[in-house]
Amino acid sequence: MNHPLPAKQKWQHQLKRLWPAAKGSLAKVYKPCIRKNCPACARGDNHPAWLLSFSSKGRRKTMYVPLPFVLTLKKAILNGRKIEQMLHQAGPQLLQNYRKRVKRP
Ligand SMILES: [Zn+2]
Repeated sequence: MNHPLPAKQKWQHQLKRLWPAAKGSLAKVYKPCIRKNCPACARGDNHPAWLLSFSSKGRRKTMYVPLPFVLTLKKAILNGRKIEQMLHQAGPQLLQNYRKRVKRP
């Protein structure tokens, strides 16, 4: 027989699969470089770069993201959204479980 997993185990199982996780947003920007006489910058093309925006202690911050790491970070942000959805559902779920356990006479 297939017993349903207890809520805590189910939660841990789902969280494990959602790592890496992050909260923030990625943006592609075009920046001039520091090289002198760069043909791309001279044309006004500039150079693509990826930025991670996130908030830390209420402040908006950004960090450069190396190109080989962009896909991993995209996945992490998607996972972070899934975890947020899980958290939104956790409150009502906990209440329902409590009500099932504590039956009034
Ligand atoms: Zn340049």
